[in-house]
Amino acid sequence: MINIANLEKKIVYFSATDYNFAIFSYKTFKLQMKVFKFGGASVKDAKSIKNVADIIKNNLKDNPLIVISAAGKTTNALEKVVNEYFNNSGNAFEALEDVKKMHYDIINELFDAENEDLTAEINDMFVDVEWILEETAVGSFDQTYDQIVCLGELLSTKIVSAYLNSIGIQSNWLDVRDCILTDNNYRDANLDWEETSRRIRKTVPPLMNNALVLTQGFLGNTSENFTTTLGREGSDYTAAIFSYCLDATSMTIWKDVAGVLNADPRIFQNATLLKEISYSEAIEMTYYGAQVIHPKTLQPLKNKNIPLFVKSFLQPDNEGTIVTDKEPSNYPPVFVVKENQALLNFYSKSFNFVDEYKFSKLFDAFAHHRIKVNMTQNTALSFSVCVNHDERKMTALCEELEIEYNIEIISDLKLLTIRHGNAQIIEEFTKNRKIYLEEKIRSNVQIIMNSNEILA
Ligand code: ADP
Ligand code: ASP
Ligand code: MG
Repeated sequence: MINIANLEKKIVYFSATDYNFAIFSYKTFKLQMKVFKFGGASVKDAKSIKNVADIIKNNLKDNPLIVISAAGKTTNALEKVVNEYFNNSGNAFEALEDVKKMHYDIINELFDAENEDLTAEINDMFVDVEWILEETAVGSFDQTYDQIVCLGELLSTKIVSAYLNSIGIQSNWLDVRDCILTDNNYRDANLDWEETSRRIRKTVPPLMNNALVLTQGFLGNTSENFTTTLGREGSDYTAAIFSYCLDATSMTIWKDVAGVLNADPRIFQNATLLKEISYSEAIEMTYYGAQVIHPKTLQPLKNKNIPLFVKSFLQPDNEGTIVTDKEPSNYPPVFVVKENQALLNFYSKSFNFVDEYKFSKLFDAFAHHRIKVNMTQNTALSFSVCVNHDERKMTALCEELEIEYNIEIISDLKLLTIRHGNAQIIEEFTKNRKIYLEEKIRSNVQIIMNSNEILA
């Protein structure tokens, strides 16, 4: 195995010929490494962090770069802080206290003696957020959201890195914002691939010299130095960005499930493991809402043919799922449920057709308000759209479009996608239920129903 970082150090002692050889080697050999991503569930408490440390220890030979999410449900807790702050409820500090307590409890349980350096760093991170909360909320919601919510990943990675060092596994904590450059589309930022790639290739290899690199998922940075986030559950995407830029030999996502199943086991008790799936199948599943992988993860991996493993952190020796270019001969029926949906029905006020000109204006409005469209249908005078329910964004959209349309909003819905199903299965899920919209495209059926429908 050639480690570029080692190579860089050694060339200092080489002769001119050796130097040329070293440069040649640097260009010719890849840095042999793997990328591991640990999600919130895997680092939710001290016991879980110790388990993650065991997995890392057993895989050190693979030269892993580790990407970690916020611990447990920290991002949700920080979203509450942001909402309290913007609602001027006076409860933002109290909401932040919950986050503090959870992290200090983890630290107290992880370390036998007080780790003064870590405590000081964690205190500083909380102070940064408290400074924001002390000011009146006047700026953009999305921008402020990213400056506050980033705390989750910064805290979890600091704690895990300090713990690894304390048990003799040398880790370099990398502030991912030094590598991931994005635009200022806060809460769903877009990557500047070229610059990000340049920064990762320059920054990471030297840090991998005799230590593993540990960094945050989900976060990025604008050229004006504001923190951005890549969209909820975006840490998988971060891991894929590093895998792509460093030509990783594989990427592994460690989960609280055996791998990618044919349905969410919280909803379908009989969900079974899919041992191998193609990138395309994984993209289809995750696009429609399978929480197990972030949808943006697959494209960078596919482009470089980097295999993705989805494995259980509870049974790390089991094989889990492998995602590659290979299309298995057949799939069992796959079920994907997307909760928290709303149906927006637009009725043309002027009795004009909803034609391509109107479509383009409608879709412009959805794009402008950053509302993700999950399914559409239209008649001559109406247009129906199923979207993720976001009160703030939907209100702004309706204010803009109510001049031309009467708008009906139906909330508390869910979107069920059935892939590779047959007529009997589809009948089973639609029979005796109120179905708001249904659509079939080849082996893909989508059905919108009330969120309280019990599926299995
Ligand atoms: P992480 O902590 O890594 O962010 P999440 O809790 O976001 O993990 O996602 C893992 C959960 O995704 C699982 O516990 C499982 O309930 C859910 N899930 C949804 N669809 C699937 C699927 N098709 N296969 C496996 N897990 C799924
Ligand atoms: N912590 C972020 C979230 O909960 C990112 C992630 O977990 O991937 O959405
Ligand atoms: Mg998650």
